[in-house]
Amino acid sequence: MESHFSQLFLAAKFAARKHHGQFRKGADVEPYIVHPLEVAHLLSTVGGVDDPDILIAAILHDTIEDTKTSEEDITCTFGERVCSIVVEVTDDRELPKQRRKELQEEHAPHLSHEAKQLKMCDKISNIADILDNPPEDWDLERKIEYVNWGERVFKGLRGANDRLERHFDELVERARRELGANI
Ligand code: ZN
Repeated sequence: MESHFSQLFLAAKFAARKHHGQFRKGADVEPYIVHPLEVAHLLSTVGGVDDPDILIAAILHDTIEDTKTSEEDITCTFGERVCSIVVEVTDDRELPKQRRKELQEEHAPHLSHEAKQLKMCDKISNIADILDNPPEDWDLERKIEYVNWGERVFKGLRGANDRLERHFDELVERARRELGANI
């Protein structure tokens, strides 16, 4: 049995290769891999999560959705539990964007405890990016709508991790201050 550290590093290498050539939407064009690593880091530091399968799933969480990665690829290397957490937070890319956003709201309360905590950090990372490093072509209205949608999804995740909830609530308060009171 390999150590948890070696599996974590293997996941980072695996995801970095899969997301090769992809970038975040923000104006500073960060390599995409920074986002899943940030989600894992938030889980570990803010969320106090030390279950290696959740941290590995966090690093891999966008590989099925955004890269050519199959469930089998993940199961073979990281096991069924990691794969099932990743699948839980994977949108169906066949569906139109608006429907995918609605489904995230509908599915959130039914996710496993593991996937809920991961999803909390995904929302924290994405909303923080919209505040600190927004895409150049996003106007104020689009940013506000994104934060509002994030809040609606997050509502279904509440109860899974108090510390992540507090962190999220502070972030949304900051969003309200910075984007204006009309949200
Ligand atoms: Zn993500």
